[in-house]
Amino acid sequence: MDYQKILQSIQRDIEPLKSEGQQADYIPALAAVNPDQWGICINTLDNKQYTLGDSAVPFSLQSITKVFALAMALSLEGDNLWTRMGKEPSGTAFNSLIQLELEKGKPRNPFINSGALVMADVLVERLPNPEAAFIGLARDLSGCPSIDYNFEVARSEHSVAYLNTAIANLLKYHGNIHGDIDRVLRFYFMMCSIEMNCQQLAHAFLAFADHRKPFDHAGFQLTSSQVKRMNAIMQTCGFYDEAGEFSYLVGLPGKSGVGGGIAAVFPGQYSVAVWSPRLNAKGNSVMGMKSLELLTTHSRQSIF
Ligand code: GLN
Repeated sequence: MDYQKILQSIQRDIEPLKSEGQQADYIPALAAVNPDQWGICINTLDNKQYTLGDSAVPFSLQSITKVFALAMALSLEGDNLWTRMGKEPSGTAFNSLIQLELEKGKPRNPFINSGALVMADVLVERLPNPEAAFIGLARDLSGCPSIDYNFEVARSEHSVAYLNTAIANLLKYHGNIHGDIDRVLRFYFMMCSIEMNCQQLAHAFLAFADHRKPFDHAGFQLTSSQVKRMNAIMQTCGFYDEAGEFSYLVGLPGKSGVGGGIAAVFPGQYSVAVWSPRLNAKGNSVMGMKSLELLTTHSRQSIF
């Protein structure tokens, strides 16, 4: 498959969308990012890499890190994790409170903010130094020891954390956060602040593309069956209330973040990371989604 040629045609085809959408600005530090950037990288399981555009420019991973959090939480808790959250698509925004109130503090899935806050609580409770363990996993998966938190982005998000604080309070009220709320929120914002470029992010997702191999990274282990099930959750819950649309247009398990990144996998074949800061109304990258739609259309490869 000539993925490089496909990437070039994608770059041409997405050109008309280049000023559609807006970058996230509810986190002040993200408002400062130049929105007119686009990069993509494919890493195949047979060790080939195809990149184009701004694929070496680091960006804020935001909710994409919820996939790493799930790998750690599942490794530590196994199926017990599902006593504290579900694995159903939410059909609501990533930071919605409505469903959480109706469902008495049990998040629909791990990839919305409420689910990730419960996972952050698990990691804070179970690990002596969750920040060190989390960045250790991100470095191991990306193959890049220089990966780090962006403390400024974490601080910036914490300074306007009205909704996430409300979610954490609701969870705590229902007994679904065991630890100190502020400690859990601080760790959550740190997780979201990690930066990678498309090349590093595609590398990090190879571990999920390789779903027939058990996961063993930085001291966290998952069976191949657990890796397969993580892909299932990415497929059904990876794009908030646009998970159906992404599944329909792209047909790959993946996860987006409000930094404009999307990571996806074609199980058994490749991982792909795409980044472009302008988001649609649901908080997903406009050019990122289109790029992946074109990738699976032109390559005629998807899980369907
Ligand atoms: N840190 C962001 C938040 O909690 C992550 C959201 C996202 O990427 N969808 O609002």
